[in-house]
Amino acid sequence: MVMGVIDFSHFLMEQVIDEGETVIDATCGNGHDTLYLSRLVGESGRVIAFDIQELAINNTRQLLEKHSRQNVTLIKDSHANFEQYIDEDKRENLGGAIFNLGYLPRSNKQIITKKESTIAAIQSLLQFIRPGGIIVLVVYHGHDGGELEKEGLLNYVTKLDQKDVHVLKYGFINQKNKPPFIIAIQKKGDRNR
Ligand code: SAH
Repeated sequence: MVMGVIDFSHFLMEQVIDEGETVIDATCGNGHDTLYLSRLVGESGRVIAFDIQELAINNTRQLLEKHSRQNVTLIKDSHANFEQYIDEDKRENLGGAIFNLGYLPRSNKQIITKKESTIAAIQSLLQFIRPGGIIVLVVYHGHDGGELEKEGLLNYVTKLDQKDVHVLKYGFINQKNKPPFIIAIQKKGDRNR
């Protein structure tokens, strides 16, 4: 079977991220990707997970505790500010980031990711991830405000220079109800520069 978007987002991360690297979960939500990334980078690696909602941070903390994961730093702030939380010496091995856009499932549908901060975070991440590193966005856009973010984001990533990055779009085009799709941005260059 072809891969669904979540599986494909994980597949992309697995292809690129090495054990021991630092990765960013830009929108931890209920923590499923945070847990996944925590295992992917292993004990020697680190996940830095962001969310602007206390509820999301708490849900993620609980999930990580349940699975005894200790290599995650949880930060209640916008991913647009992520630069402030990266150690100078960790910048070298920042392998990538994952975003799940939209609202926190089973919670307030008014609190959503927005194109301004999402794009600001991508711009900043592109400076800090290593060559070969990847940013994967799962773009949910069926909710109020979702279309606006989707259009802004597509417009932005379409214009990224192909000399610098590969930009990929992956999704099902015959599904009803505006299914989520993936945008992946991989920084070009030799990872062992
Ligand atoms: N739609 C997905 C889940 C998205 S959760 C699904 O159905 O599985 C998106 C999370 O992003 C929410 O928890 C929300 O609080 C968070 N968020 C919104 N804006 C943010 C920002 N600027 N920085 C970090 N997290 C943000």
